[in-house]
Amino acid sequence: VVRVENLHKSFGSLEVLKGISFTAHEGDVIAIIGGSGSGKSTLLRCINMLEPPTAGSVSVHGETIAMKSDGDGGLVPADRRQVQRIRTRLAMVFQSFNLWQHMTLLGNVIEVPVHVLGVPRAEAVERARALLDRVGLSDKEDVYPAFLSGGQQQRAAIARALAIQPEVMLFDEPTSALDPELVGEVLSVIRDLAHERRTMVLVTHEMSFAREVANHIIFLAEGEIEEEGPPEAIFDNPKSERLQKFIGSIQ
Ligand code: ATP
Ligand code: MG
Repeated sequence: VVRVENLHKSFGSLEVLKGISFTAHEGDVIAIIGGSGSGKSTLLRCINMLEPPTAGSVSVHGETIAMKSDGDGGLVPADRRQVQRIRTRLAMVFQSFNLWQHMTLLGNVIEVPVHVLGVPRAEAVERARALLDRVGLSDKEDVYPAFLSGGQQQRAAIARALAIQPEVMLFDEPTSALDPELVGEVLSVIRDLAHERRTMVLVTHEMSFAREVANHIIFLAEGEIEEEGPPEAIFDNPKSERLQKFIGSIQ
């Protein structure tokens, strides 16, 4: 569904991604792990063009996002409307929830379907209620984000992401801003999505969770894929020294 080819990203002279390639097929749950600063967030942000890559390409269902030179050694999307369209097929959930604070939960969930995708309001509301129910927030639709716990906000953010009926969900450390006692409720929503065989790319520090839900693990180190493979191989039989060290450091 998503193919990333030879992706490079530099910020000035800092080369953050040094040629990343991978493919997420239908139903894949890919977990990206690696140390702080290894480029995990940058990689996710390049996939949906929140950050234009310096080189390389991203395709969604065989459609490659057209890029052109930015005149400064980098690339920018050649066709804004194509990026907007492709973004509606990828949903991103951030570490910091990023709900719209001036809207109720229901407002957050129906905003993009109604105003971007043209879904009739009544239908969007009905679907939003079902999604809020699914993430355990059916009694909170009229509440503003500020009145909710971090775990509730993140579950609402997942409902909002699902509302656009994305083909792929991108998660960037969805639980790392949460108090420990709230992590489980968010992981359990993501686990359900994995069981439905939704295609997902998940950056996480929760190694036991990555092992449980992912069918493929990518270990990033200094902007390169240092090692990748099925969870058993990565966690029980890591080959690269850096991966051995990384796994040792978190257990
Ligand atoms: P963490 O686990 O801490 O979230 P990460 O693997 O997600 O780390 P990134 O956020 O992708 O790492 O950052 C990789 C490197 O790129 C870091 O050195 C960071 O300082 C740098 N970087 C990220 N975004 C920018 C930016 N907008 N401008 C300049 N440098 C940036
Ligand atoms: Mg990050």
